[in-house]
Amino acid sequence: MNRNLTLTFIWLTTATSGIAAETNRTQRFTAATPHDAIQWQARAREKLFALMMGGAKPTPPPLDAKVLQRSDATNGGYGLEELTLQSLPDRRVHAWLAAPKNPKGKMGAVLALHGHGGSGSQIVRGESLYWYGPKFAELGYVVISPDIGQHTLQHTNWSLMGERTWDALRCIDYLETRPEVDPQRIAVAGLSLGGETTMYVAALDTRIKAACSSGWLTTIANMKKGHCPCWNFPGLEEHFDFADIFACVAPRPLVLEIGEKERAPGGFPVSIARPAFAEIQAAYRVFGAEPNAMLDVHPGGHVFHGEQFWPLLQAALR
Ligand SMILES: [Zn+2]
Repeated sequence: MNRNLTLTFIWLTTATSGIAAETNRTQRFTAATPHDAIQWQARAREKLFALMMGGAKPTPPPLDAKVLQRSDATNGGYGLEELTLQSLPDRRVHAWLAAPKNPKGKMGAVLALHGHGGSGSQIVRGESLYWYGPKFAELGYVVISPDIGQHTLQHTNWSLMGERTWDALRCIDYLETRPEVDPQRIAVAGLSLGGETTMYVAALDTRIKAACSSGWLTTIANMKKGHCPCWNFPGLEEHFDFADIFACVAPRPLVLEIGEKERAPGGFPVSIARPAFAEIQAAYRVFGAEPNAMLDVHPGGHVFHGEQFWPLLQAALR
């Protein structure tokens, strides 16, 4: 073998093994028509519900909302409500809601999600990394934010991400019961674990009209290096990578934010996000909706940015 052939062989071997590692996913998005893509999404959602939530999509019990306290938000005529909702027959989710005290007609709403160590209270108050809660209120939306940071599994045949995601989905059920919320105008956004939960919520629930997943877009391979293992559950990597789960959001508007200062191990580097984004773009292309998916690479670190999401959100929830 001459030198050129040897180099070609090495390159092909490397390139092929890279692709092979990714094609092991049984549910990889490969649809070529909108019809096939919609069918693939339905199968993928069913599979995700089964893997994450004890074998099948749960039957939601009545919400039985209980308001624990009401208080004034710091700005703009909004009030805060601390509440709990019946998530499952034996489970309640704790959440905070920010809504105008005197709403003028129907309005849109955002399910806003926190990261590790955060809380719904911090979101609606804009504390710590979570300035985007009050920002959504300022833009004229009702904001709901459940606590999703628990690391104790209640149902041993579920996964942590399943319990967190289901609790978040129940908050959308609750938004639909609020007199001031237009159920046709609901979005989801979150940072880090909140960006991960945003991915599952937007993938599984077509009521979501726009999504912003910040500080999360990555691969399963990257999550195995220096991250809290709570993202993982049996069957995930056998069937999916995260790009496939985001492909369930297509063709709905989606912003994926990654900071240039992110590093591995333990972070969410741009160099890993870009190829994953290319896979997501391919799904949007099938729907003829490529501009609806945006990768917002910002100069910061592991933070929420919002710049590309605000106009997209306003357009999607108009
Ligand atoms: Zn964790």
